[in-house]
Amino acid sequence: MLSSTSSEFDLTWRQQAACISAEEPPTSWFPSDGFDPATLRAIEICDKCPVFVECIDEGERLQEWHTIRGGISGSERRKLASSLHD
Ligand code: SF4
Repeated sequence: MLSSTSSEFDLTWRQQAACISAEEPPTSWFPSDGFDPATLRAIEICDKCPVFVECIDEGERLQEWHTIRGGISGSERRKLASSLHD
């Protein structure tokens, strides 16, 4: 997990992102309605990503709740973040 001393703008972790080299189109990380086969493939890729923690952390920091990050939907991430900060 990113430490509090990490730069908010340190994006070097993205170079290790599994989705960068995946053949799956970026739209697969934007589920439109439910979990279609493309979304499930995106989740599988996220499950093997070495930087999923950094990715989820960035999503919360940016309040980005529209995409799959770390294999978790935006709505699920928002609920988790909300429960952790209550
Ligand atoms: S967790 Fe998923 S969306 Fe995030 S960097 Fe890794 S593969 Fe990409």
